[in-house]
Amino acid sequence: MGWTFIENLAQRLKIIPDLDRKRSVGASVPLRTYPDPEHWHDHVELDANAWPEHVERRYSLVPTTCFNCESACGLLAYVDKESGQVAKFEGNPHHPGSRGRNCAKGPATINQIRDTERILHPMRRVGERGAGGWERVSWDEALDEIAAKIRTSLKTGAKDRVVYHVGRPGHEGYTNRILKAWGVDGHNSHTNICSAGARTGYGLWQKHDRPSPDHANAKVILLSSSHLETGHYFNPHAQRILEGMMDGAKLIVIDPRLSNTAAMADHWLPTWPGSESALFLAWARMILERDLYDRDFMENWVNWDMWLDAAHPDEPRTFERFIELLLDEYAEYTPEFAAEECRIPVEQVIEAGEAVANAGSRLCTHVWRSAAIGNLGGWQVARSLHLLNVLTGSVGTEGGTSPNSWSKFKPELFDEPPDPDGWNELHFPPEYTLSHYEMSHILPHLVKDGRGTMDVYFTRVFNPVWTYPDGFSWIEMLENEESIGCHIALTPTWNETAFFADYVLPMGHASERHDINSYATSAGKWVAFRQPVLREYARREGREVEFTHEVNPGEVWEEDEFWNELSWRIDDGTMGIRKHFESPYREGERITIDEYYQYTFERVPGLPEAAAEEGLDALGYMRKHGAFLIEDATYSKHEKEGWPTPSGKQELYSQTMVEFGYPEHAIPHYRIRSHVHPDNLQGEDEYCLLPNFRLPQHIHSRSANAKWLVEIAHRNPIWIHPKDAAKLGVDEGDLLKIETEIGWFVDKVWVTEGIKPGVVGCSHHIGRWRRSQDRGNRFLTNEVVIEDVGEGRMRMRTVSGVEPWKSDDPDTNRVWWRDGGVHQNITHAVQPDPISGAHCWLQKVRLSQPGPDERYGDVEVDTNKSFEYYKRWNEMAKQRETHPRGERRPLWMKRPLSPKKEHWFMPE
Ligand code: SF4
Repeated sequence: MGWTFIENLAQRLKIIPDLDRKRSVGASVPLRTYPDPEHWHDHVELDANAWPEHVERRYSLVPTTCFNCESACGLLAYVDKESGQVAKFEGNPHHPGSRGRNCAKGPATINQIRDTERILHPMRRVGERGAGGWERVSWDEALDEIAAKIRTSLKTGAKDRVVYHVGRPGHEGYTNRILKAWGVDGHNSHTNICSAGARTGYGLWQKHDRPSPDHANAKVILLSSSHLETGHYFNPHAQRILEGMMDGAKLIVIDPRLSNTAAMADHWLPTWPGSESALFLAWARMILERDLYDRDFMENWVNWDMWLDAAHPDEPRTFERFIELLLDEYAEYTPEFAAEECRIPVEQVIEAGEAVANAGSRLCTHVWRSAAIGNLGGWQVARSLHLLNVLTGSVGTEGGTSPNSWSKFKPELFDEPPDPDGWNELHFPPEYTLSHYEMSHILPHLVKDGRGTMDVYFTRVFNPVWTYPDGFSWIEMLENEESIGCHIALTPTWNETAFFADYVLPMGHASERHDINSYATSAGKWVAFRQPVLREYARREGREVEFTHEVNPGEVWEEDEFWNELSWRIDDGTMGIRKHFESPYREGERITIDEYYQYTFERVPGLPEAAAEEGLDALGYMRKHGAFLIEDATYSKHEKEGWPTPSGKQELYSQTMVEFGYPEHAIPHYRIRSHVHPDNLQGEDEYCLLPNFRLPQHIHSRSANAKWLVEIAHRNPIWIHPKDAAKLGVDEGDLLKIETEIGWFVDKVWVTEGIKPGVVGCSHHIGRWRRSQDRGNRFLTNEVVIEDVGEGRMRMRTVSGVEPWKSDDPDTNRVWWRDGGVHQNITHAVQPDPISGAHCWLQKVRLSQPGPDERYGDVEVDTNKSFEYYKRWNEMAKQRETHPRGERRPLWMKRPLSPKKEHWFMPE
């Protein structure tokens, strides 16, 4: 369509939105000045460094995907044809999720691959575990030694003693297939410190346990998070939130902290942490009272009749009566009640509530981490938030919120080994009947409690010593060779957990590995290919490569080929493992990595046909473009597929909750007050510490080697409101001692009105450390000493902050910042929610001025106290342990790796 001169000018000046922009999600809009893929192998650009000379450089542009958060945005690696090395990364405009755009972390991949301190070769421990001694070994040695240990464990018949614990997965189904081939129930994840709270809330409604908001087409965008600046699907979501806002959508942000997202909002509601459900239920009541609910959706797709049967068997079984009774049930959730609980003005509750109530089918909501992972009962937040979508009929609609699985492509694998023949109680202990994922954050406590040990433990792109709460308990477990026979860290960079491994095996960054990605970043469905770019470049240049480590820096490898190779070596010919690694194309021979991806891409709907149009096969298409749009929009799938719940409907009423011992939570309510609810704090002396907000430039614990990102953000001061600062007598930059249930740390304060009084904040990601014997990450690590002062008490003190150093990269000598922040997580007590199993991140803390011997960065923790504290929380789950029909957990609920059905029942 052509536009008038005035329209064109107005678009260019951004007075009006881009009229060519497709509002649908997945559609990618070609950038006019971007090189066409036909020319990607011979792209010419002027060399910026040679300016003012005009020097041309030739590049091969190879698509891959970013690995620096889950979104897997498209990247284009510029491979310099002269050096054969990657010169830079830019966005891939053909990627339907990211559409050519990236956040700061995408292009910073170049920092990671050029990190002068990166691990280049397999390393084996020398001396005591954790003492810092390492020697270089060959891949052959490492593979044979590890394979022998796994073989020995498997031959005992144990199904729970070889474990893979993942931080950032970034792939689809690959490792579960490996674990099934080995026959172990050995998948552990980080989910219970991340998304398990929200997943439980969503799972109770619809089994699909994640939301996929269609921000671009919304009328009202309601975020209980800071998704415009950080979070899951950050860049893909941010660009669509902005598109929605440009088209007139109102943005409502619920957050006790004035995040950059809240700063952009039409309504910022700084609610007290954990009170969000009260607010959402008050809005639900407003919708019901004003008859603004979507009767058609409610009547046909919600199991309202089951609630009537269970709670009101004597009442008429009519929809009209159901609405009246639901209004009665929610009578207590008035705007005044919500205002009181949230500690915000009632006018704000009503004003924002009006917008929500009138959004109709274009109400787009999202909660991820934040309140849902912060509080005891945080899962209620997601459950009550989704109630707003159900009432307004904005589930699965354009501009509404869909289940994420509708937009996620599930790859078909060349071979599916049988489900594991056992149940791992270290991952799913019997008392956590509804825990949505593995109870990974209490693993050290379960081991200390005598519930089990491991022969072989893989940590994979995972750093619990630093990222998790109570890191000293992790160190205690990792140092004990009776708890863990062999610890193998698969990691692209040194980290605090790898320091306590037996083998450290270098794995590739984004441009050095294969993975399939598909995420619900929008209402479309796409698949993308993370590929090792120098391998693809070699292929384009006609060079044969057998293994990816042949083209990566040093001997850096990738998990995919590593798992295949290891699995082959585990099997001595008697174990039946090798048959799961045979090529689907060449009988009896080992599968190659190209064959693995060829098999899967050949089965992506529409891809072989699109490839054929370009004279390519499916793998060739993905190598060339890096991504493929399978469906442009995935709305209203329930009309064909229904809902995969026991009732086949959206479950307002959960029989599962009733049967598993929680009848008071049969329908969404605000029945659990958070552990940081004002009633649970000791007057004005206790504060709520909000420790789980992200900085947009950082990647949990994988950005300390990315100099550009660290230069932008490298401190984590305590956010404190001026009223609280005055009460405590502290000023900007002063020190504050923050006491948790199990220890304390000393940090500097940042006095700001951007945090609610009574709440203090401290960002995640900063406070990385290394001891004198450790290596790596010097852009962001303080050097520390750790002292065991007896009776379980551990101390950490900063010896020196960040300092410049000489290396092949002149920038390491230009480091100007000195403050590497403070490791707060290690002082946090574990707080497992008895229902969702999620770690409740928010901490009750006492604030005081440090003593004369207490310095900035000091940390102290009592691990005995932390074990006792864990037991108190564990008791909450034990008291309600119920197994209807002997079920360990609801048979219909998800489990990441599912054992054979008989193991879903408690042993006799
Ligand atoms: S949002 Fe940023 S970090 Fe995440 S995949 Fe995209 S570019 Fe990478």
